[in-house]
Amino acid sequence: MSVALEIRNLHVSVENKPILKGVNLTVRQGEVHALMGPNGSGKSTLAYTLMGHPEYEVTAGQIIFDGHDLLEMEADERSKLGMFLAFQYPVAIPGVTLANFIRQSINAHRKAKNEHDSGMPIPEFRRFLKEKMDMLDMDHNFAGRYLNDGFSGGEKKRAEILQMAALEPRIAVLDETDSGLDIDALRIVSEGVNRLYGPDLGVLVITHYQRILNYIKPQHVHIMLNGQIAESGGPDMALHLEEHGYDWLREKQGESAE
Ligand code: ADP
Ligand code: MG
Repeated sequence: MSVALEIRNLHVSVENKPILKGVNLTVRQGEVHALMGPNGSGKSTLAYTLMGHPEYEVTAGQIIFDGHDLLEMEADERSKLGMFLAFQYPVAIPGVTLANFIRQSINAHRKAKNEHDSGMPIPEFRRFLKEKMDMLDMDHNFAGRYLNDGFSGGEKKRAEILQMAALEPRIAVLDETDSGLDIDALRIVSEGVNRLYGPDLGVLVITHYQRILNYIKPQHVHIMLNGQIAESGGPDMALHLEEHGYDWLREKQGESAE
């Protein structure tokens, strides 16, 4: 059965200030959604809330993943159920290679499914990781680097996409929280998503870059404005945005508020 991430009437406050004001969004396996919107509209707040960041207080609404209440789950439980959140492990871990880190994550998932599992044998893991790296057109040496230790923005993205490829999630949420992301990093994320995408993977890409839509072809585009999804549409929404920016939406929202 197809799995879904369902965000229902989500209200979130930061330091008692309401930021998200009733967000509704469902992402199913096999779908690619882009969430866009101007700076300050609440996109990263949604991403941090999905990650369970303690500063982001859910004051109303629900987040359901595969029928489970996501807000009641620890980050590792979310991951084991097949939800992948980029930036879940943003810290550098000196002494732990990317390959080791990925192997530990895979083994934790296996153990969650079967407590007697003794982990993926190392030769099998090596083959598995190489296949994933080949699919993503990555240099095999990359997995031998210490995780996020001195990684450039582009390399962090590459590491993230490789983790995603290896964990084979059912729903992945990728947030371009870092406004300093260059076009190269954007391209890496986009190509990775395009290569990994299939009927078993649902993706929510959160970005304020309209140009990401030149690389990823989502079936659904949502625009966040003032903590709500102001508009949802198909791929042609991207063209509209490119031409008209966000002002038309502000005007529309202003009109309906009067
Ligand atoms: P976006 O990602 O769409 O640019 P954000 O979710 O980062 O928007 O921000 C939405 C609003 O929430 C902004 O007004 C921002 O100032 C506020 N905000 C977000 N995170 C915090 C925080 N940790 N502390 C205080 N205010 C925050
Ligand atoms: Mg942001």
